[in-house]
Amino acid sequence: MSTTGTIGVTTENIFPVIKKFLYSDHEIFLRELVANAVDATQKMKALAASGECNAELGELAVRIELDEAAKTLKVIDNGIGMTEEEVDKYINQIAFSSAGEFLEKYKDQLSSIIGHFGLGFYSAFMVAEKVTIETLSWKDGAKAVKWSCDGSPEYTMEECAKLDRGTVITLYIADDEKEYAEKSRISTLLNKYCKFMPVPVIFGKEQEWKDGKYIDTEKDDLINKVEPLWARKPADLKDEDYNEFYKALYPMAEEPLFHIHLNVDYPFNLTGILYFPKIKNNVEISRNKIQLYCNQMFVTDSVDNIVPDFLTLLHGVIDSPDIPLNVSRSYLQSDSNVKKISTYITKKVADRLDEIFRNERQQLEEKWDNLKLFIEYGMLSDEKFCDRAMKFCLLKNTENKYFSIEDYKTAVAGEQTDKDNKVVLLYATDQEAQYSFIEAAKSKGYDVLLMDCQLDSHFVNLLETKLENVTFARVDSDSVDNLIAKEDKIRPELSETEQEDLSAIFQTVLPKENQYYVQADNLGENAMPILITQSEFMRRYREMSAMGGGMNFYGEMPPMYNITVNMQNPLVAKILAAKPADLHKEELADFASGNEMLKQVVDLALLANGMLKGKDLSDFIARSAKVVEDAYLK
Ligand code: ADP
Repeated sequence: MSTTGTIGVTTENIFPVIKKFLYSDHEIFLRELVANAVDATQKMKALAASGECNAELGELAVRIELDEAAKTLKVIDNGIGMTEEEVDKYINQIAFSSAGEFLEKYKDQLSSIIGHFGLGFYSAFMVAEKVTIETLSWKDGAKAVKWSCDGSPEYTMEECAKLDRGTVITLYIADDEKEYAEKSRISTLLNKYCKFMPVPVIFGKEQEWKDGKYIDTEKDDLINKVEPLWARKPADLKDEDYNEFYKALYPMAEEPLFHIHLNVDYPFNLTGILYFPKIKNNVEISRNKIQLYCNQMFVTDSVDNIVPDFLTLLHGVIDSPDIPLNVSRSYLQSDSNVKKISTYITKKVADRLDEIFRNERQQLEEKWDNLKLFIEYGMLSDEKFCDRAMKFCLLKNTENKYFSIEDYKTAVAGEQTDKDNKVVLLYATDQEAQYSFIEAAKSKGYDVLLMDCQLDSHFVNLLETKLENVTFARVDSDSVDNLIAKEDKIRPELSETEQEDLSAIFQTVLPKENQYYVQADNLGENAMPILITQSEFMRRYREMSAMGGGMNFYGEMPPMYNITVNMQNPLVAKILAAKPADLHKEELADFASGNEMLKQVVDLALLANGMLKGKDLSDFIARSAKVVEDAYLK
């Protein structure tokens, strides 16, 4: 007996909507159909396990068959099947009424949620002009039925001759969707969505190269060959298993640094494996590598709003049936489950790093340079993570030794506490360029950290707010004596006029593009005559404004340098002794520009800072050649 009927209540508007609005993501139909087939198969397993069904199970699998010429695609399972009543209930009524409600509720934001909401079985109509279901239920005495619908609201249902249990869904691919009748396209889709499904998914036969072409072998081509490692118990797995799985996920990537196995079933259900990839210096490059699954079915690889921003740098998989997929992305952020999940993942990542810090310290040190950017980014963007990370975050010094923050503070406190009882942590951002400053600090018994990562200027600020009684100073921000002020030392006493004259003399011979603050100091007879430094404060704010820290005022000013004139240096003494008393401003300038020794001494200081360029540099070399000649030949 055959019946005809009209599907559901809201059919009139459903089909156009399916076709029109789901345009961006037509491909998900295959995921939906395979997921239904997998479900039906698993239900069959469950029935057998509970003893409710004693029939022969056979080899449970989902098969995809494509006839490229006839343009038909079949999804075949030997799961529980459906009785006529069930088809009527699940296909003709339920699916449609829920879709109708859904459309009513979200009609304003449809396009943003498309792709995360499967219309289930009906998504087949996105690509097919006609769909049939042939199904035989596992239930004793059930009759096979064939349901058929050509995309109009009418369907037909009749008995059919299907003999084996399960369901065959046949799609007659529409002319304007021909790509879904191509083997390569279907193969790609199955690999994308079904690679980890919990039931074997088979697409045709494996092929081999024979007589100049590929031919089918006897062997089924299994899509889900790789085991979804995250579904297994961590205790049963070794490092190699995790690394192999990583290779399967990202064949082109370098070996990961560490992995974290996530596994929680209360108050939400989530499993997964996250990997710390090797990241060098580009934050952007490795985002969106986390794949989100729902019961081993691939959903998406954009997990923003589900994991905190800094964790999107990680790679791996997260599988959770508790992440709502049928809502817009902006809504996700406020979802309480998603918030819990995000907090949980952050906590797990911190736990794991803490464990590595405690038990695998050497490994952590070896991999630190690759991990550092990730951890600093996390500390800067997530306060809770930061508080945890203060324990396991490492600092590296210019001798390539690693310390925990607390250990480092304790280690240097003896030498590097200033007169106000603050521990001053010295750092360099460029070991080559700041070499002489680093050496000067070391010779004084100080230690120098290396802070050469792109986030370090922000990171230094952060550490200052987190650590009590600690300040940071870049090695070249002052003379080594002043970097860590020990006691109020005796500075040279200059009258106001002497100070003004000193400033005028040096300003005359310094490059005009910068600003200078000239000050006299006693650095010792053997120290350099002049030291050029940039104040920690000014430099940091310029750097932060350059990175978009919102301090534009400082960013727009010309760079400001401190010129420390060492009054104890004999050359300085000689230059100043040559200056006649009571000179006017112009006379001072004439004196300065005519004093070759002054020029030479200033140029040397500029050279030490890499600031001597162009004509000034070549003049300096010519002048120096003469000085050398005079010294050796006369
Ligand atoms: P959903 O899967 O979200 O419930 P669908 O429209 O995809 O919605 O399917 C509706 C119902 O139809 C399913 O819940 C299931 O009971 C039934 N169904 C769909 N496909 C199959 C199948 N291959 N085998 C058995 N039952 C199926």
